[in-house]
Amino acid sequence: AIPLVVAISTAISAQKGLLIRNRTAFEEARKITAIVFDKTGTLTKGEFGVTRIKALTNTTDEATLLRMTAAVEQHSQHPIAQGIVREARKRGAIIPAVQHFQSITGKGVSATVNDRQVVVVSPGYLKEKNIGLPSDAFTSGAETVVFVLIDNQLMGYIALADAIREDAKGAVQRLQSSGINVYMATGDNQKVAEAVAQELGLDKVYANVLPDQKVNLVKDLQQQGQFVAMTGDGVNDAPALAQADVGIAVGSGTDVAAETADIILVTSNPTDITNLVDFGKATYSKMI
Ligand code: ADP
Ligand code: MG
Repeated sequence: AIPLVVAISTAISAQKGLLIRNRTAFEEARKITAIVFDKTGTLTKGEFGVTRIKALTNTTDEATLLRMTAAVEQHSQHPIAQGIVREARKRGAIIPAVQHFQSITGKGVSATVNDRQVVVVSPGYLKEKNIGLPSDAFTSGAETVVFVLIDNQLMGYIALADAIREDAKGAVQRLQSSGINVYMATGDNQKVAEAVAQELGLDKVYANVLPDQKVNLVKDLQQQGQFVAMTGDGVNDAPALAQADVGIAVGSGTDVAAETADIILVTSNPTDITNLVDFGKATYSKMI
């Protein structure tokens, strides 16, 4: 039987934007000592706008680069992909169909566009392949930059910017002042990660993190004796959500992540997590 107080709490929290899939996890919210937030869509709005498009060769211009990239990205759910497709449509581009779409976990996407192989990837992917980063790619502020390879040649890059959620700073501060260690883990680059972290007053930041590394981060914290909550979206984050003591899937995330999670954050609002922690403590004190 579910204690009445918990049933009521569960109903109330659903109204506040939290769906509790696992009642035990809700009761355990009060034990949380560390929270690992993903950046995109939880601490930030997850709405990327294109800020710069750069063609690096004279065989391709910006419009072509954007159109080819959008062709691949129309099959991806990532907020970066949505930003690129939106920009292409805004500019009236005719986006071609593609074949063989594939996602490269935590690194990017690829497909065949008009018989050419188009790969859209992170700076980390370029480093892995020993391809030098263009010197002007990271000069102007905290941008997320994706690189476009066509038939294995680096043709250009697209820079995008996201905005921090208005309520994120308050949520982080409330968690910190109740003694919880707040971490951020992101697949995005160091410069963006640090800019967001600084704005939020967060000093524990991990950038360029691949999905399987998120699992290890959670494990490391658990080995230090921490009781770990983790937020995530997408298929990639599912293993880390499963490893966490309290896995929190954010609302816009995919079904796979939601199935693995203990809690679903319908509104993607970090304040709801802060409420959950306070609420868990309050509920528990009513039960004893
Ligand atoms: P996060 O959830 O922190 O954004 P991801 O693992 O989803 O991290 O992505 C990590 C990085 O991989 C992104 O910052 C980007 O460079 C690259 N990436 C992922 N998906 C895409 C995509 N659809 N198009 C281009 N780049 C992508
Ligand atoms: Mg992600």
